[in-house]
Formats: sequence, structure tokens, C-alpha cells
Amino acid sequence: MTASALLPESLRQDFPILAQHVHGDKPLVFLDNAASSQRPEAVIKAMVESYACDYANVHRGIHVLSERSTDAYELARSKVRAFLGAAYEHEIIFTSGTTAGINLVARSWGDANLRAGDEILLNLMEHHSNLVPWFQLAERTGAVVRHIPLTEDGRLDLYDLDEYLTPRTRIVAVTAVSNTLGTINPVRELARAAHDVGAVVLVDAAQSAPHLRTDVQELDVDFLALSGHKMCGPTGIGVLYGRAELLEAMPPMFGGGSMINRVYADRFTSADLPAKFEAGTPPIVGAIGLGAAIDYLEAIGLDRIHAHEQALVERAWEGLSQVEGIRLLGPRPELRAGLVSFVLDRPHAHDIAQLLDREGIAVRAGHHCTQPLHDHLGITASTRASFYLYNTVGEVDALIAAVRDVRDRFKPTGRKRRRA
Ligand code: PMP
Repeated sequence: MTASALLPESLRQDFPILAQHVHGDKPLVFLDNAASSQRPEAVIKAMVESYACDYANVHRGIHVLSERSTDAYELARSKVRAFLGAAYEHEIIFTSGTTAGINLVARSWGDANLRAGDEILLNLMEHHSNLVPWFQLAERTGAVVRHIPLTEDGRLDLYDLDEYLTPRTRIVAVTAVSNTLGTINPVRELARAAHDVGAVVLVDAAQSAPHLRTDVQELDVDFLALSGHKMCGPTGIGVLYGRAELLEAMPPMFGGGSMINRVYADRFTSADLPAKFEAGTPPIVGAIGLGAAIDYLEAIGLDRIHAHEQALVERAWEGLSQVEGIRLLGPRPELRAGLVSFVLDRPHAHDIAQLLDREGIAVRAGHHCTQPLHDHLGITASTRASFYLYNTVGEVDALIAAVRDVRDRFKPTGRKRRRA
């Protein structure tokens, strides 16, 4: 399939925010999608309509608006179930995002299941959201954190996996796609190996669910967390998928309204799934917006989106690799999702991002919440361009030209260096 199969130029009309100029006359080139994507009008409309016509709190009121709101909220859950290929709707827990989902598992499942000396298997390409909750769990329980090593080109090195994945391993937490390297990790293979030693697998799908088709049963994973705002949905909504028998055995994380079956003067009994993990008023309109985002992505097709981004990333990789003094991070294009991070010998990542912004090109600079990975790579910061379904070949070319121009301006001349 070629890039033209997707026609991003026509999709762009669905995203009102993209049709603007910045810094005077520069067309906005939005390449910061890994941080947060933009939303199509269909998502905005679904949310506005919910607030304007149907809104009330869910699950409680015996009145028409509450019934409509509850139906819409639960319909969103059923869309997420289908989107992830989960067996049951009660395996879908609405959260505020990936961070919340991972923390929920680390707290609820982790505290109940880990003991001193048990092992948590991570790796250095993980986002801080998939490191810190496990470090905290290790601090609470005396469990030990271990890391799968990385290859030179930024993939998981599974060659000696037996050394790291042992009968002491209780959980393997892994990102499906690295938000810095772009690496697509072999989740299915890891899940199989983890299950062989009796460990459970949590997948951070923040960077994969928006771009690649996800099927939790096919992948055979136990937990999977994602964020709505990276997949054309609103902020403040995310999903934790959990295998029913694991979720059923886990204690609730937050106590309060909705998560109870019965409260007495001095004790309570928990509600069934999924309410057990959805204490308080949930992000109702956020869930409805996420449902609309899923409808939008499904109508286009995740396979087409991935193929389109693959074409963009190949072009970016090819073009950027010609820029003098550049170091591209991560594996070759076929092994990665639609983002490219790089370092120039000069200038610093923040200066690059600022100069690109002046050309209307939005990228991200910094450590991208992967400080251990940056330490491992021997750098403090990088610049990241991340693509989505509405990005065009022309925008990739604009990025390449602008990066080349930035490097040219900072090129050492042997005489006086030109200043930006
Ligand atoms: N994991 C990865 C791989 C991410 O890229 C991000 C967002 N940058 C997160 C987790 C955290 O997502 P959120 O901030 O939406 O909770």
C-alpha cells in the first residue's frame, strides 16, 4: 500500500485546528502527535452534543438524561472493547490516561501479588510512566527491578532473555512502541515467554493504539493501557484493559461512590467490574469523545493509517539521514512506527525546536520522559518529529529542509560561526 492510499490532504479538512498559519504566514505543520494528537470535528461535535443535549451523571439517575448519558458512556465502552479485541466489556476500565492505568495495576495488582525478592522486568526505552510506578512498587514491597538490554539500534535484545525472564519474574511491563526510538516491540513473543515462566504482561499502548491495530487476545497480554488524547480523542480519558480473572481478583484502587456494592458503618463490599475500578463520577464526555475517535479511526482503518505513517517515516529517515552532523535514534524505518528522533552535533535540541517553530513546524525537544534511555544513549535531549494520519509528504519535506537549514546556520566554518 502506498501513502496515497490514505489521502491526508482530504482528511485534514476534518481537523479545523490544522488549517491555520502561525508566526504570520507560516502554514502550521503539526509534528508533535506523539505528545498529543489533534481531534477531528466529529469528536468535538460528539462532545458538544453530549453537553448540549444529553448530559447528566451516569448510572445513578432515574431520569431520561441520566439514561441517555449512561447509554452513551456504556456504548463508548463497547466501542473500546471491539477496538481492542477484548472478550468482555467489563475488562475495559475507563481511566484518565495511560499513566493512571499503569499506576492502577502497579498499586492494586502489584501490592497484592509482589513480595520481597520478586522481579519486575522492564527495559530502558520505557516512558517514565512505565518505570516510576514499578520503582515505587519495588520500594513498597522489596521487589527487584531488572531490565531487558537494548541492541545498538534501539530494539529489545531478546537473545539472552532467559537470563532476565526467570521464575522470579512476576510482571513484564513493556511499551508496544517507544515514544522516543519509534521501535515496535515484539509484544506477542514477550507475552508468550512471560507466560511460560508464570509472569503477567502489561503493555503500554500509548504510542501503539493510535497507529497500529491492537488485539489483546491475539497478543495474549494481561493488561494494556492507552490514552485517548493521542488517538484523536479528548484529554482526561484513557483505558485500562485487564484480563477479567485478574481484575476480578484485584482490590479496588480508589474508594468512593460507584465502586461499592454496599457500604455499612464500618466496611464496604466492592461493586462488580468495571465499576469496582471507576470510583466517583467518571470522565463521561471524555469517554463519549473517545468512542467518536474510535469510530473515526476505524472508518479510515488502522492498517491504512500505519501504512501511511510508514511511508512518511521512510521519507523522513531517508531525508534526515542526509543532513550533516545528524544522529538518528532507533532502528531502521521498517521496524518503527511513525516518529523520528534525532540529535544534531549543533545546535541543541531546544534551539532546533525553536527554530523549526519559527518556520511553523511543531516538534518536541527534550528527554520525552525517557531520561534513562537518553542516559543510555549518552545524550541529554533529542528532537522528535511524530506523524499522524493527517500529515503529508509535503510536511515531511518541509521538516527535512528546515532541519538542513538549521544545521547549515550552525555549521562550523573554521572562521567566525554564524549566529542564529
Ligand atoms: N507511555 C508512553 C509510551 C507515552 O508516550 C506516554 C505519553 N507521552 C505515556 C505513557 C503517558 O501518557 P499520559 O500522559 O497520557 O498518561
